[in-house]
Amino acid sequence: MTSGKSEAALRADIIEVGRRLYARGYTASNDGNISVRLGADRLLMTPKGICKGFMTPDMMCITDLDGRKLQGDRDPSSEMLMHLEVYRHRPDVQAVVHAHPPTATGFAVAGIPLDRAVLAEVLTTLGSIPIAEYATPSTRELPEAVRKYIKAHDGMLLANHGALTVGGDLYSAYFKMETIEHFAKISLVARLLGRENLLSREEVMRLQELRGAYGIKAPAPICADDSEDEADASCQTVQAPSGHGARLVPDSQPSLVQKLSASDGETPPDASPEGGEIRLTYRELSALIEDAVRNLR
Ligand SMILES: [Zn+2]
Repeated sequence: MTSGKSEAALRADIIEVGRRLYARGYTASNDGNISVRLGADRLLMTPKGICKGFMTPDMMCITDLDGRKLQGDRDPSSEMLMHLEVYRHRPDVQAVVHAHPPTATGFAVAGIPLDRAVLAEVLTTLGSIPIAEYATPSTRELPEAVRKYIKAHDGMLLANHGALTVGGDLYSAYFKMETIEHFAKISLVARLLGRENLLSREEVMRLQELRGAYGIKAPAPICADDSEDEADASCQTVQAPSGHGARLVPDSQPSLVQKLSASDGETPPDASPEGGEIRLTYRELSALIEDAVRNLR
């Protein structure tokens, strides 16, 4: 009980976090899985094939760090190998949460990492959120894909699958999942609106210094240069242009809408003759923005 909590309290925490994941729509049906360290060499984990919104304390499994079941009537989570991989590489991690929050998973499906310097809170807590390469769920491929990023990141997207977060306790891992989904929604709205002002690299470095002042523990610093090799596990790659003294830099990249209309030479049905934009009626655009803003709440 490295967290100082009793096993009964940790079982109750898993049930509560599972309920919240399900209530917020981060998991559907039997999706997702949760685990916590139970002492130095055991894990308490959600079982296979159960809805996370309706769990009871007796459902949990206890395994060792090699995945052998020590206790429980049910089999451990189908993504147990991914959880074991995290604990193996991150002795500081006490809890792991995996879910499929829809907006963040949309970015994972689109192959767009959440690595732009946009929100100060995200930069000070999670830093960048990369995408682990696609791997067949529940196979040995998935832990291998996660291994590349887990040393330097507390949260990542899993290509065409979902998201993974880790923390010093279960609620910390859960709140990082909330932060990722919230960040994904804000990023989506900004890109729908067609403009994203980025924090300058100088501002990013200033924020990084604040991590220490606020006692935020990050697994790795933000790389000094955004061209850093992403395979470098010692720092986090963040897209932040030089501001030359300014704190905000207008994003020069094309908006999502422009990218969509320019893709593969396929002209969308309502594209303007110039091919620059998709035309939406005022009503369609309002509905789109209203829906996105509603989801932010
Ligand atoms: Zn999954």
